[in-house]
This record gives sequence, C-alpha cells and structure tokens, in this order.
Amino acid sequence: MTSFNDFNFHQAIEESIDAMGFTKPTPIQVQTIPLILENKDLIACAQTGTGKTAAFLLPVLQRIMENNDFDGTKLLVIVPTRELAMQIDQQLQGFTYFVPVSTVAVFGGGAGDVWDQQKSAISAGVNIIIATPGRLISLINLDYLRAETLQTLVLDEADRMLDMGFYDDIVKIISKLPKKRQTLMFSATMPPKIRKLAKKILTKPEEVNISLAKPAEGVLQGAYLVHDEQKPQLLMDLLRDKPELKSILVFSATKLNVKSLYKQLKQSGFSCNAIHSDLEQHERVTVLNDFKNRKLQILVATDIVSRGIDIESIDLVINYDVPADAEDYVHRVGRTARAELTGVALTFINSRDVRNFKDIEALIGSEVHKLPLPPQLGEGPEYTVSKSWNSDKSQWKGKQKGKSGHKEKKIKKNQS
Ligand code: AMP
Repeated sequence: MTSFNDFNFHQAIEESIDAMGFTKPTPIQVQTIPLILENKDLIACAQTGTGKTAAFLLPVLQRIMENNDFDGTKLLVIVPTRELAMQIDQQLQGFTYFVPVSTVAVFGGGAGDVWDQQKSAISAGVNIIIATPGRLISLINLDYLRAETLQTLVLDEADRMLDMGFYDDIVKIISKLPKKRQTLMFSATMPPKIRKLAKKILTKPEEVNISLAKPAEGVLQGAYLVHDEQKPQLLMDLLRDKPELKSILVFSATKLNVKSLYKQLKQSGFSCNAIHSDLEQHERVTVLNDFKNRKLQILVATDIVSRGIDIESIDLVINYDVPADAEDYVHRVGRTARAELTGVALTFINSRDVRNFKDIEALIGSEVHKLPLPPQLGEGPEYTVSKSWNSDKSQWKGKQKGKSGHKEKKIKKNQS
C-alpha cells in the first residue's frame, strides 16, 4: 500500500498534504505521481472526484521545489470551465500554503481590474497558470504569455473541452508553447477524437485508467421528500437522542445555510461545529481535527469537505440539500462505511431537486429508498420532476435570475 511518504516529497509539500487532511493517496495518485515525477507524458482516463488535481499538482510542485527554480511559468493547466479553474485554484491555494510558488487562475468574466491582474501575473511569468482556453487565447493574442520556461502542460477534462468546441484554441495555444515539455492529458472518456488529439500532442504517453467508485456496499442510503420549510424540523428529529452516533456530517449547499443550521443546532444543545469557505485554512484544520478526534458529534459543512476529508467510519451523513453534481453525492456518501464498516446516508429532496436526485440514481445505478416523513411534519412533495422545472436549460437559467427561490443552484457553485 503506497503512502504519501513513498513519493519522497519535499517537506513543505508533505506539510501541505497534511494540512489538506489527506492521509493516503487515491488510486490515480498512486498510479500517476511516480510517472509524472519521471517526466513522462500521460493520458489518464479519470473523472473529477478521483483526486486527479492533486495527482498533477503535487509532482509539479515537487519539481519546482527540488530544482529550487521559481523563475517563470512552469505549469499551464487548461480547463474547460471557470468552475473547474476555480476548483483547481482552490486546491492549489491549499497546497501552496507552505510552498512559495505564484499562481493565477485566468478565466473570462469579472471586472476590468481582474483582467489587469491576470495580464500582469501572466506577463510577469507567474509559476502556475490555470486557464480557460478563450481567456488564454486573448492574452496570447496580446502577446502577454511568457512560455519559454514552461515545463508541464495539463489538459484537464479534455473530452469536455472538445465537446465545447475548443479544439482549434487548444492547438493554437500549444503552438505557442516550447516543444520540449511534459504533457499530461486527463479525460473522463476516451472517444476517438481524444485519441487523435493525444497522438498529436503527447510523446510516448503512459496510459492510466481509473473509474469512479460507486458508494461502498455497506452504506444504507435513504431519502426524504421534504419541503424547504420542513427541513429544519426533520433535521432536529433525526439528530435528537442519537448518542450512539459518534460522528455525523451534515452537508448543505450554501455557507449561509451552513451557518444558520450550525446556529440552530448549537442553540438546541448539540455538540457541533461548522466548516465553510469563510474560515481560514488553520480554522478549518482545527474544526476538522476536532471532528476526527470525536470532540464534536456533528459537523455541518459545505462542499469543500465532501471530498477533502478522509475520516474513518462516519456513522451518518445527511445531505440537507441534494448535491448539484451527481458525483458529489457519491463522494459524500463515501464518507460513511469506509473500511467495510456500515454507515447511513440520508438525503433531503425538495421538489426542485427531484431531477438532480434522479440523475444521482442513474449514476449509482439504483433507486434510493424514499422514507416516510415523521407524521408531525405533514406531507412532503411528490417524487416527480416539478412542472415549473422545464427540461430546457436556457429556461432554467432565466429563472435563476428572476425568482429568489430558484437561486439555490447557482449559489451552490459559487459559495461552497
Ligand atoms: P479531484 O478529482 O482532483 O477534483 O479531487 C476530488 C477531491 O478529492 C478534492 O476535493 C480533493 O481535495 C480530494 N482529494 C484529492 N486527493 C485526496 C486524498 N489523497 N485524500 C483525500 N482527499 C483527496
């Protein structure tokens, strides 16, 4: 069994891995980190959620530390969406807490001063750039990119980038990069067009294939159909008088919700704390440690911890909201029933989240048992996709801007 120690990372990197709460490498990290450290090109079939970001960031940081060379841009990561850029940047912030490299995330939108910051970081030769293709092309066209020192190029979610029509942009970006470089390509699927691109831009690549795990066998999964206004009461009913459950994780979509649930639970006398992106890194570590050490019974959390923690044997996970991404559900539920133990995962589904939950059931390949609400709560909604939710995504977007009740999904992405 490989441990992070086996990679012989620089001490600062080991410390940042510790601070992130990672105790052992995921399968993709075990397989790819040694290859990346050997400077091999790589094509990896792996979805988000497998730990692929750390798989490429850690060896690159190691190389920078090892060479003690902090001059110029060393790593360029190209990603399809702003959300993924932010997600990678967030992990990078964690890893670079003790490692003195400069980083910038470059994507469209934002005010003029954001553009100015991106411009000056790139032209100053920032060590690591995470970029969406469109914005990077704009910067290249204005001749801001300084790529002479580049050592590694990562194409993340390559299949999605091609689906979004970024092929020409990617080829153009690559034409501006040094020929002698390491190229790593990550893709959730391997259709022929991805193979074709790989052939064009990779040199004698190693291949790694990791598929996303389904929730462990031991997890008992259940779900409640519940209106928003019934949720706080249901949560209280489920948590009350459960001293036998030593570790309970409650996930909610927004930090606002997390803060308010924490307040309610605290006022009702529960042993609990909350974790969300408003906390400093050291505060997060303290809260997580208290939870791991069983000083707290209940931890209320946004998405930031759904994948980042590895705590053995959480007894109960409650999804106060349905996770927006089906894979996040697998990760959250994966917090229970580790190491063959049994655990319980319960999800609260309101009428707007029925569609998302059906997606989750499709991903995990089974129907989750719908549990009756406690009688004092009255009736919940039906398990049918609500009529106001049209399958046309553009209508959905229009609604997000309008009615406040529909904002939740948008907030989920930005505030976790
Ligand atoms: P990714 O597939 O890179 O999007 O990573 C998914 C999540 O897994 C992120 O939230 C990471 O913080 C987390 N993660 C990555 N590596 C590990 C690890 N070795 N142990 C625990 N969590 C990890």
